[in-house]
Amino acid sequence: MKNMKIKEILMTEEEISGIVSCLADRINNDCKNCDKLTVICVLKGAAVFASDLIRKLSVPDVKVCFIKAESYGSAVESSGSVKINSYEPLEIQGEDVLIVEDIVDTGHTLSQLTAQLKKLRPRSLKVCTMFDKPTRRCTEFVPDYAGAEIPNEFIVGYGLDFDERYRNLPYVAVLDDCTE
Ligand code: 5GP
Ligand code: MG
Repeated sequence: MKNMKIKEILMTEEEISGIVSCLADRINNDCKNCDKLTVICVLKGAAVFASDLIRKLSVPDVKVCFIKAESYGSAVESSGSVKINSYEPLEIQGEDVLIVEDIVDTGHTLSQLTAQLKKLRPRSLKVCTMFDKPTRRCTEFVPDYAGAEIPNEFIVGYGLDFDERYRNLPYVAVLDDCTE
C-alpha cells in the first residue's frame, strides 16, 4: 500500500460545520412546503456528510436510502464508467428526492446516477454535494446545492478516502506525494 502524508488542511471541522448548516438552510427553505423528502446517500464517501446534513433538515418526514456508486476503485482518476448498486428496492415514484454526494469531479457519477433515477419517476430530483471541483468537469452536470469549491487537488477526510483510508478525519486535507 502507498504511504501518504497529510500535506495541507484545506478545511477545518468548524468550517465544514458552517457549510453544512448553510446547505441545510437552503434545502429547508426550498422544501418549506414539503411534508416528505427521500434522501439518497451515495456510499461510501457521502456517509459522514449525509449524517450531519439529515440532522439539520426540518422537513417533517425524511426517509434515508443508501446506494453505492463506484467509479474510482483505488486509483485517483475517474474511469468514466459508473457502477450503481442499491441495497434495497428504490421506491421513489412520485417522491421528492435529494441525492447526497461527497464530491462532484468529472460529473460522470452524478450524470449517470440522475439519468437512472429519473427513470424511476420521482416527483422531483435534486443533488446536494458537499464538495465541488468545477474545473475538472467533463460533463454538463451542475449540482443543485454545492457546499464548497475545491481546487484541482485530491482531497481526503470528512468521509472521503484514499484507498479506503482517511475517511474518519474530521477535517479535509490534501495528501502529499505518494511514496511506495
Ligand atoms: P466523478 O464521477 O464526478 O468524476 O467523481 C465522483 C466520485 O469520485 C466522488 O463521489 C468520489 O468518490 C471520487 N472523487 C472525486 N474527487 C475526489 C477527491 O478529491 N478525493 C476523493 N477521496 N474522492 C474523489
Ligand atoms: Mg462519492
